[in-house]
Amino acid sequence: MSRTRYWSVRNARWLKTLYASVEWLLIKANPLLQKIGYERLDRPFVRIEKMTKGVLLDSQSCGQCIVSFTGLSCPMNCPKAMRNGPCGGVRDDGTCEVKPDMKCVWVLAWEGNKRLSNDGYPIQVVQPPMDHRLIGHSAWLRELRLKTRDPAAASSDEI
Ligand code: SF4
Repeated sequence: MSRTRYWSVRNARWLKTLYASVEWLLIKANPLLQKIGYERLDRPFVRIEKMTKGVLLDSQSCGQCIVSFTGLSCPMNCPKAMRNGPCGGVRDDGTCEVKPDMKCVWVLAWEGNKRLSNDGYPIQVVQPPMDHRLIGHSAWLRELRLKTRDPAAASSDEI
């Protein structure tokens, strides 16, 4: 899967544009999605995310996706699950301290961010700690609820 991960980082710019279009569609469809019920839609959305983000980005379905901040490099592929920059062990050739056969996800994140530099280097945003209760839930629906100001989305207990 790391091959698709590398490919996605190299193609971060247009993939992010594609994602923005999907997000726009979801926002338009939100009244309908709301009627169906986010809880009911969670599982089907997770399946779709696994088929798209899972394949393209090697996304690990943490339910609180931050790849738009990390140049489309999923930080959950880091063996130490670092969500705010690399550990101190990145090798000189950019590979991972723990898994030398893969590039450090944060080296990839930096490369992806350079391709998205028109967005003002979002990699600099400090990410909150991971909420383990969201693992396995739909990140897209959560993002949609946050964007459309659904107060329930602010509380992980509601998801
Ligand atoms: S080198 Fe990079 S990918 Fe490997 S553990 Fe450290 S931060 Fe994670």
